[in-house]
Amino acid sequence: MSDVKLEDIVSLAKRRGFIYQGSEVYGGLSGTWDYGPLGVALKRNIMNLWWKMFVEDRDDMYGVDAAILMNQKVWQASGHVDTFTDPLIACLSCGSRYRADHLIKDNLDKAWDYRNELGELDEVIDAKLITATPDDPKDIIITEYLGEDAQLDVVDFLNEKVSCSKCGQKSWSEPKQFNMMFKTNVGPVADESSISYLRPETAQGIFTNYKNVVDSFYPDLPFGIAQQGKAFRNEISPRDFVFRSREFEQMEIEYFVAPDKWQESFEHWVAKCKEWFKALGLPADSVHELEVPEDDRAHYSKRTIDFEFDYPIGREELMGLAYRTDFDLANIQRESGKSMEYAIKGTNEKFVPHVIEPSFGVERALMAVLVSAYREDEQNGEKRVFLALPEHLAPVKYAVSPLLKNKPELVEKAREVYAALKKKQGNVMWDDNGNIGKRYRRQDEIGTPYCVVIDFDTLEDDTVTIRDRDTTEQQRVGIKDLI
Ligand code: ATP
Repeated sequence: MSDVKLEDIVSLAKRRGFIYQGSEVYGGLSGTWDYGPLGVALKRNIMNLWWKMFVEDRDDMYGVDAAILMNQKVWQASGHVDTFTDPLIACLSCGSRYRADHLIKDNLDKAWDYRNELGELDEVIDAKLITATPDDPKDIIITEYLGEDAQLDVVDFLNEKVSCSKCGQKSWSEPKQFNMMFKTNVGPVADESSISYLRPETAQGIFTNYKNVVDSFYPDLPFGIAQQGKAFRNEISPRDFVFRSREFEQMEIEYFVAPDKWQESFEHWVAKCKEWFKALGLPADSVHELEVPEDDRAHYSKRTIDFEFDYPIGREELMGLAYRTDFDLANIQRESGKSMEYAIKGTNEKFVPHVIEPSFGVERALMAVLVSAYREDEQNGEKRVFLALPEHLAPVKYAVSPLLKNKPELVEKAREVYAALKKKQGNVMWDDNGNIGKRYRRQDEIGTPYCVVIDFDTLEDDTVTIRDRDTTEQQRVGIKDLI
């Protein structure tokens, strides 16, 4: 687990204009977040970096931007209408609702002890099950209670050992499967035929355009289609800041491969994901690869790696990499009656390609970036908070200030430097609020790598001071060199 506290990140994010609670002025809307001026800049920098690395800098990648609302047949064929569910459990006393697997996960030690009290631990400590979940054998208890072939009565355990965190009672409903898609109707008539959903993943907008891209470009295999955009999930209990939101953004790639070549492409994407974490400035020892065991994989996946990150809330999923076989294209082919086969150029060979899917969540990446960059140190006996963001992600790269804002000659010169630097760099901020110490503190907290100050010497020799965020050291450089 990271030793950065979640509340420090949340409070810095709000204080400095990165992220606010959605609809805050009306008391908020649970699971929604609004990005402020610096948050939107950081988010765009992350998304643009991804697009550059995975689309623009490659020859085998095609970008799309599909509609969020899609024909309901998309979600029937993909299995989302029937199976995109989480187990919902309610407190019978106050009506609070919880995700049952999270409730057990949060009380795993109690569940383990409970089984022990019942004298049933031997069943749990079954070698096969333990090797299936090498990280923590206790995790198997979640599957025992809630997996497809759940063996145990979860309500017995909860009623005996787990209190509702809202009202303190131990009185639980049976778990029910709850579909997480937001349903709506398209057009003025609300009937069965007009049902649509806010997409719960961007992937399906890629699969439905696979044929269009092949017809327009006829790329050689392997090739990928990439998309970034909003996804919506009616999470039972959104929590942990932006980590589990009801509206969030994904960056997904479906990489189409010949069926017998999937392994090499899978390895290629493992390596690319690692490059991505490095580019985000995440320390290598904070990211962990979890080879998802067969029992826990989605039914269509033959191999899945979850990349987990040490968040302040514990080690949790940052992104996923899955081999989805031909599951999606074969479904589309069957349900639409249109061929999804790919014909290898110059041969008679045809097949439905298989797919490797790296699926990145923007919010979880952004949260990992903030956690990795958050630092506290002491300067002149005072605590200092700063974000050591990589330069290419920082929302503001240079802050420009006149030393004193009531000296017109300094302000005029500073404005000149500011205008020239902004023309060249773009993300430059004018900052003359408060005294110079306050400005530095503010810029440190938003992660600005360099503060440029124009003082009386500047008027004499055309040099300015540049202060480095991480070391706080100041250097004098010529304006010409700076620009
Ligand atoms: P989890 O198990 O944490 O609910 P998941 O396995 O359902 O996640 P995927 O369906 O694999 O997630 O989605 C791909 C990525 O989208 C995740 O790795 C994550 O980065 C992001 N993501 C999924 N759900 C959310 C959410 N509710 N809020 C923010 N990001 C999310």
